Amino acid sequence: MKILVLNAGSSSLKYQLISMPEWDVLSKWLVDKIAIEGTVIKHVWKEGKVEIAGNLENHSVALKKVLELLVDPTHWVLTSLEEIDAAGHRVVHGWEHFVNSSKIDDHAKIKIDELSELAPLHNPANLMGIYAVEEVLPNIPNIAVFDTSFHQTMEPSAYMYSIPYKYYEKYKVRRYGFHGTSHKYVSHRAAEMLDKDIKDMNIIVCHVGNGASVSAIKGGKVVDTSMGFTPLEGLTMGTRSGDLDPAIVAFLMRKENMTIEDIDHMLNKQSGVLGISGVSSDMRDIEDGHIAGKVQETLALEIYVNKIVKYIGSYTAILNWCDAVVLTAGTLENSAYIRKMIADKLTWLGIFLDESKNDFRWEERIISTPESKSVLMVVPTNEEYMIAKETYDLLK
Ligand code: AMP
Repeated sequence: MKILVLNAGSSSLKYQLISMPEWDVLSKWLVDKIAIEGTVIKHVWKEGKVEIAGNLENHSVALKKVLELLVDPTHWVLTSLEEIDAAGHRVVHGWEHFVNSSKIDDHAKIKIDELSELAPLHNPANLMGIYAVEEVLPNIPNIAVFDTSFHQTMEPSAYMYSIPYKYYEKYKVRRYGFHGTSHKYVSHRAAEMLDKDIKDMNIIVCHVGNGASVSAIKGGKVVDTSMGFTPLEGLTMGTRSGDLDPAIVAFLMRKENMTIEDIDHMLNKQSGVLGISGVSSDMRDIEDGHIAGKVQETLALEIYVNKIVKYIGSYTAILNWCDAVVLTAGTLENSAYIRKMIADKLTWLGIFLDESKNDFRWEERIISTPESKSVLMVVPTNEEYMIAKETYDLLK
């Protein structure tokens, strides 16, 4: 079954064409700056790659362009678009409504649209991707795979906030968790690598890239996760604050005459390591600054690492024990330096880093010593594969 996997952002579209169940990636694209001057399409397939510039005014036009490239004989990916059997879409917010991946019908589209209030940056863009496929490939089924679904196993004691219960009843204000597709893939892959049944394992997954979240997974089910009602809660991120005392919001609004929009912008776009360092949201810059002895970058890095370790500690307590701590996403797949900083603070858990195994980027690897009581490992995430798998499983 050939599955088109789409991850639509407000001005970008990422696609992969994956043949399942054998997980053969036939080609990949990134279309950037849709509806902005100077759209760029990067297309990589088995025998080559090409970069094309143009002006594409919306997601449907971008998808049409990509499909043209797919059947272009010089690219040699497909002979006909009829070969595409289904599309799997990343949808960020599924609320309590979508506990599992779901076939997209009119009702699902209405719900995803309604949920835009909770994920204004993501759900409308995800819908644009769905509409684009419906327009351009009207005969194939569309499946939505939600970032929130994997976390729906949390108990109320983990997902409720300590505010008046009526706000949950009225607006469903609660913790949802995000990056669920990644947490699911990485935890299952970790169990496979350790040759264990995930049902018998307690796993903590740290997905730390530009956005970042930790989850506690018991027997394959999420019992707690660090992102909340929105992706703002939890760890210190590239530009997002993560946890903070909510009283700071009212204090700054009064002191600085800030509006709700100003606060929202500050917490989402100007905080995190960017806000602390004043230099960059990219951990490569923060790491370089720290090594060069710069004070603000060092502070940003220390806060960043401490937060991760604090979550690992509290989730070990929630799980009662942790068999494996699994590191994934941009920062932890790539930075040996930050992996070591984290590992050095996990000796209380019986985790000892094997430094000879830590010098690498983007590989699956166990990096703790064989004597360690709990395993520390890196599993590069693969959300596209997981979306293809969920789509395949649902249609099969
Ligand atoms: P993601 O959001 O998962 O794509 O991760 C992107 C982020 O990973 C970047 O913004 C960087 O902060 C971080 N990153 C990527 N490569 C490295 C590296 N070699 N060292 C440290 N951080 C990195």
